[in-house]
Amino acid sequence: MINLILLGLPGAGKGTASESLVDRYHLAHISTGDMFREAISQKTPVGLEAKGYIDKGNLVPDEVTAKLVEERLTQKDTQKGFILDGFPRTTIQAELLEKITAKLNKPLTRVISIEVHEDVLIKRLSSRFICRTCGATYNKLSKPTKVEGVCDRCGGHDFYQREDDQPSVVKNRLRVNEKMNTPLRDFYHQKGLLAQVNGEQKPEKVFAEIDQILSQD
Ligand code: AMP
Repeated sequence: MINLILLGLPGAGKGTASESLVDRYHLAHISTGDMFREAISQKTPVGLEAKGYIDKGNLVPDEVTAKLVEERLTQKDTQKGFILDGFPRTTIQAELLEKITAKLNKPLTRVISIEVHEDVLIKRLSSRFICRTCGATYNKLSKPTKVEGVCDRCGGHDFYQREDDQPSVVKNRLRVNEKMNTPLRDFYHQKGLLAQVNGEQKPEKVFAEIDQILSQD
């Protein structure tokens, strides 16, 4: 059973690693960022509440986010294992998650932190683009589509840049997330769950390192 958290600042490659992990291990991919974006586009109450925070690059309140994750973890597809991508982001969220996983009897088996320097992240975020049809994420610098203008996954031609990947918002997002990142790593280090990988390598290499860690567990 793999119940995994991927830690890492925005742009570290959590989403990309998750795509490979889903293919290999058939885990449920739980990205709070994706869930919020979906909620915003559906104009649900959670989406309306989250929008103001997300547009500015701030964090949505812990309780709102934890509730969303708890509901998601009760769904059937998480029984064979899951990846949490973008949650927890604060130690309070990590503590809330402990209660949730205990209640649902789905204990964490591993926490992997993908490490990337800030200057690399700024470059990556501003060159990230997404397929509007299937949501696959690419990067002009490090992960372009195989054929220019055509999505590798679904063949779509329509791409967009995330609102919060605009340079004016990116700096605040990194600042907000960085402050919480070290305490979060310490939290899981103390629990003996933490492993770290170098996220400045090619996506295949990052995935290979993660895969090796998981295969030794
Ligand atoms: P992401 O796609 O993970 O970069 O998330 C996009 C935005 O959604 C973040 O900048 C936050 O505003 C919000 N968000 C995602 N996950 C969380 C979380 N665990 N706690 C609070 N806010 C979150």
